[in-house]
Amino acid sequence: MKNIVVLTGAGISAESGIQTFRDSNGLWENYRVEDVANYDSFDKDAELVTKFYNARRRQLTTAMPNEGHKQLVRLEKDFNVTIVTQNIDDLHERAGSKNVIHLHGELTKACSVDDKEEIYNIGYHDITPFDVDKNGKMLRPFIVWFGEAVPMIEPAIEKIQQADYLIIIGTSLVVYPAAGLRNYAPKNCRTYLIDPNKPQADLSNITFVQQKATIGVKQVVDEILAQMDDKDIAE
Ligand code: NAD
Repeated sequence: MKNIVVLTGAGISAESGIQTFRDSNGLWENYRVEDVANYDSFDKDAELVTKFYNARRRQLTTAMPNEGHKQLVRLEKDFNVTIVTQNIDDLHERAGSKNVIHLHGELTKACSVDDKEEIYNIGYHDITPFDVDKNGKMLRPFIVWFGEAVPMIEPAIEKIQQADYLIIIGTSLVVYPAAGLRNYAPKNCRTYLIDPNKPQADLSNITFVQQKATIGVKQVVDEILAQMDDKDIAE
């Protein structure tokens, strides 16, 4: 089977009611991004940061996967599909995608302030000041903040290096290292970008579909499935 890698940003979840921040002047759900998503935000104000991510986690209990998330699942019957997402929500998993790499962490997990590899599944529960790891150290949201290392970038690069198709959805392609991932795609990889707004990035060798995710993803999935020939099925 051929390999498809899908790289998603906040835009794919916008129509599920979860705000992007680049669309709203550096505000994310009315918070200044630097106050809640920098490497030193938690040290400066753990209460504010915890409260912000608790609210994002609660919001997930009412947000539903949209047609953009759902259409991607159709590809899994005929292709090896890996979703590489910058999003911290769980809407890809809830839509039914099986292989999801989260570059920037996951809202439904917490980790120790002392060791980011000490991870706890917390589901949709709040993190409170009383929650501690096995050594009594505070728990923090399992999020990769700006300025922190991105450990999942290596597995994402490995997948993209083997991609026959790359579908990029709802990302302004300005947050690195995620924005650089497309440069690892092989020369013959067919690349699509779905976004209602044209990004600043160089779009040569990319098929740009200027649509919202709920419309554009179906269009691209239909096209890829229609292009499949007997060889694809046999491989
Ligand atoms: P981004 O850089 O990925 O930019 C958002 C992009 O989505 C823009 O290009 C915009 O034109 C596009 N977009 C808007 N509506 C769309 C739609 N309906 N369909 C398709 N595309 C659409 O994302 P960002 O908002 O700048 O966030 C950067 C980082 O902040 C993320 O990588 C993530 O770590 C965090 N974040 C996560 C979430 C989430 O988990 N859902 C939401 C906001 C921010």
